[in-house]
Amino acid sequence: MEDCLFCKIVKGEIPSQIVYEDDEILAFNDISPQAPVHILVVPKKHIISLAHITKEDETLIGKIYGVINKLSDEKGFKQDGYRVITNCGENAGQTVKHLHFHVLAGKKLGEKIV
Ligand code: AMP
Ligand code: ZN
Repeated sequence: MEDCLFCKIVKGEIPSQIVYEDDEILAFNDISPQAPVHILVVPKKHIISLAHITKEDETLIGKIYGVINKLSDEKGFKQDGYRVITNCGENAGQTVKHLHFHVLAGKKLGEKIV
């Protein structure tokens, strides 16, 4: 999608610090980290949010969690724990309208709201 920031990152038109890539998924460091580890994991396919996935995307979502599990192992934050967040829509404050999963780790994380 032309005017989408994360599509531009996927295409390499905007630089990012990539930590994982395959045919369907890209993971890169958040530009404004909220924890020592703050990775964004995105599908390469433009999907606006979790509210916009279809049945056929469900395998891809599963793969994204597989990538997160692999990264937690490789980057050494699996044992201490981490948090995965996806902001969906207005009330959650989603700013980039391309589905993404925040992976936060490396410190005791702040307030738990659920
Ligand atoms: P959200 O508020 O859930 O939509 O999260 C969007 C995230 O994208 C924020 O954590 C931003 O810091 C991050 N972000 C914005 N621009 C960039 C960029 N060019 N590279 C990496 N992360 C970015
Ligand atoms: Zn996009």
